[in-house]
Amino acid sequence: MRGSPPGYVMSAFDFDLFVIGGGSGGVRAARMAAQRGARVALAEMLGPDGLGGTCVNVGCIPKKLYSYAAHYAAAFEESHGYGWEFPAPFPAAQGVLPGAVAGGPADQRVKPVLDWARLKANRAHEIARLNGVYDNLLRGSGVTVLNGFARIEGPNTVGLATLNADGSPGHQTFTAAHLLIATGGTPHVPHFTGREFVITSDAVFDLEPFPRRLLIVGGGYIACEFASIFNGLGAAVTQLYRGEQVLRGFDDEIRHFAAAEMVKSGIDLRLNADVVCVHQTDEGLRVDLEGGSQVLADAVLYATGRVPNVQGLGLDTVGVALGAKGEVRVDEHYRTNVPSIYAVGDVTGRVQLTPVALGEAMVVVDALFGPAAGKVQRSMGYDFIPTAVFTHPNIGTVGLTEAQARERHGDITVFRSEFKALRHTLSGSSERTLMKLIVDTASDRVVGLHMVGAEAGEIVQGFAVALKAGATKAVFDATIGIHPTAAEEFVTMR
Ligand code: FAD
Ligand code: NDP
Repeated sequence: MRGSPPGYVMSAFDFDLFVIGGGSGGVRAARMAAQRGARVALAEMLGPDGLGGTCVNVGCIPKKLYSYAAHYAAAFEESHGYGWEFPAPFPAAQGVLPGAVAGGPADQRVKPVLDWARLKANRAHEIARLNGVYDNLLRGSGVTVLNGFARIEGPNTVGLATLNADGSPGHQTFTAAHLLIATGGTPHVPHFTGREFVITSDAVFDLEPFPRRLLIVGGGYIACEFASIFNGLGAAVTQLYRGEQVLRGFDDEIRHFAAAEMVKSGIDLRLNADVVCVHQTDEGLRVDLEGGSQVLADAVLYATGRVPNVQGLGLDTVGVALGAKGEVRVDEHYRTNVPSIYAVGDVTGRVQLTPVALGEAMVVVDALFGPAAGKVQRSMGYDFIPTAVFTHPNIGTVGLTEAQARERHGDITVFRSEFKALRHTLSGSSERTLMKLIVDTASDRVVGLHMVGAEAGEIVQGFAVALKAGATKAVFDATIGIHPTAAEEFVTMR
C-alpha cells in the first residue's frame, strides 16, 4: 500500500475503495482517495474515451465550446459598429457567402458561414485530449483504471463485464472495503408516437448534417442552452415548453427577462406547447403539436430531464434503497442503507452540477480516509450553490429567488438594475442586462443575487463567495466598483 493514511489498517480486500463510474464525482473521489494512500480501483463502462463522464464528453465542456462558437456569429455582426469590415471578395472556399461586399448595405455585407465539420472535429480533438488528461491523472495517482460495466454482486464485491482479447465477453470479480456509486444520469425521453426519430443532448454534438431547422422540447437548462447555441450557429430554432415560462425554479423576473432576450435573438419560443407525435416525411420530421399545429424540422432534440443510471447495477441484489425517481438514497455522509456502499453525484438525484459532484466526492474521501494533511474534514452545504445557464445572454444566479426569500424572510428589499451594456452602445445589438439583489431587511444580509447578461456566470461566481460569507448590503455598498464594468452595478445599486 502506497503511504497509508495514519492509523489505517490494510484490509483483506483487493481494494480499499472501488469507484463505479469515471465521471466528475468518480474521478475526483478515486484520485483524492489514492493520493491519501488508499488502494483504489475505478471502472468506466465506456473505457478510456468515457473518462471525465457526462461533463467532459457530452455535457459542460463541449456545450461551452459550442456556446463560444455560437457567440462568434453575433460578434462578427457587432464588430461593424466598431469599424470592422471584412475585405471582399473572399473566395467562396474560405467560407464566405459569394456576392456579398464589405462596406455595402448591411444585407449585402460579407457574411461568415459556419464550417460545422471543423467545429465538430476540433471539439472531438479537445475532448480526446481531456480524456487522456483524466487517464494520466488517475494512473499518476496510483488508481487502477478498469474498462467495463460494473455490477455490484455483494456489499464488498463488484463484477466487471469486460471484453477478452478475442472480442468475446469476459468477467472479473473484485472486492473492496468500500464501494462508491458514481454512475451519473442519462437523458429521459417520454413516450409518444415517433419517439425513435428524436435525439437527446448525447447526440446533438455530432449531428450530421447541420440541422437548419431544429425543434427543441423542454424548458430547462439543456433546452434553453441548446436553443441559444443553435440559434447562434445559424439554425432556425423552435423551442417548445409545456408550462407558462421556461426555467422553472429560477427567479420569476429573471425567467421572463431571459426568455424575452432569447426571443429577441431569434428563437421561436412557444409556451404551453406540447408534442403529440413525430413523423418522418419527405420534407423532414413533421412534429404535430397539441392544438393541431405542426412544425417541420431537420432534427428534434428532447431535453426533458435526466434519470439516474442504476439499471443493471445490481442494487436490488444487495438491497440498496432507491427513491421515487430511481435515485440512490444517501444520508448526509453519502452512505446508502448498505454501510459499505456510498453514492455521489447525479445518481443521487440531488443537484445535478459538476462542482456539486466534485464536492460530494471530497466529503466521502475525507470521511473514509481522513482529510488532506493540515486540512479540516470537509462537509457539503447546499445553500448558496451558484449556477449559470449558458443561454445568450447568460443567466447567473446564487441564493434565493425573490419568491423564496419572501417566503423565508417575510420582509425583503429588492434592488434591481436594467440597462444596455456599454459594449452594445456601438455594437448595434439590442441586448439588455438585468441584475437583482435580494436583501433580508431585518439582517441586511444579501440572500439572493441574479443576473441576465454577458458573462453572468463569470460575474456571479465571485459574488457567490460574498453571499456564502454572509455579506450584508452595507458591505456591498462599501465595496468599490471596478469601472467601467457591468459587474460594478452589483455594488452601486441603491
Ligand atoms: P457522470 O459525469 O455522468 O459520470 C458517470 C460515469 O459513470 C459515466 O462516464 C458513465 O459512463 C459511467 N457509468 C455508468 N454506469 C456504469 C457502470 N455500471 N459501470 C461503469 N461505468 C458506469 N454541470 C455544470 O456544473 N455545468 C454545466 O455547464 C453543465 N452542462 C451540462 C450540459 C449537458 C448537456 C449535460 C447533460 C449536463 C451538464 N451538466 C453541467 C451536468 C454535469 O455534467 C453533471 O452534473 C455531472 O457530470 C455529474 O457527474 P457524475 O460523476 O455524477 O456523473
Ligand atoms: P431540467 O430538469 O433542467 O429540465 C427539464 C425540462 O423538461 C423542464 O422544462 C421540464 O418541464 C421539461 N419536461 C420534463 N418532462 C417533460 C415531458 N414529459 N414533456 C415535456 N416537457 C418535459 O433538465 P435538463 O434535461 O435540461 O438538464 C438536466 C440537469 O443537468 C439540469 O437540471 C442541470 O442540473 C444539469 N445541467 C446544468 C447545466 C449548467 O450548469 N449550465 C447545463 C445543462 C444541464 P417542467 O419545468 O414543467 O417540469
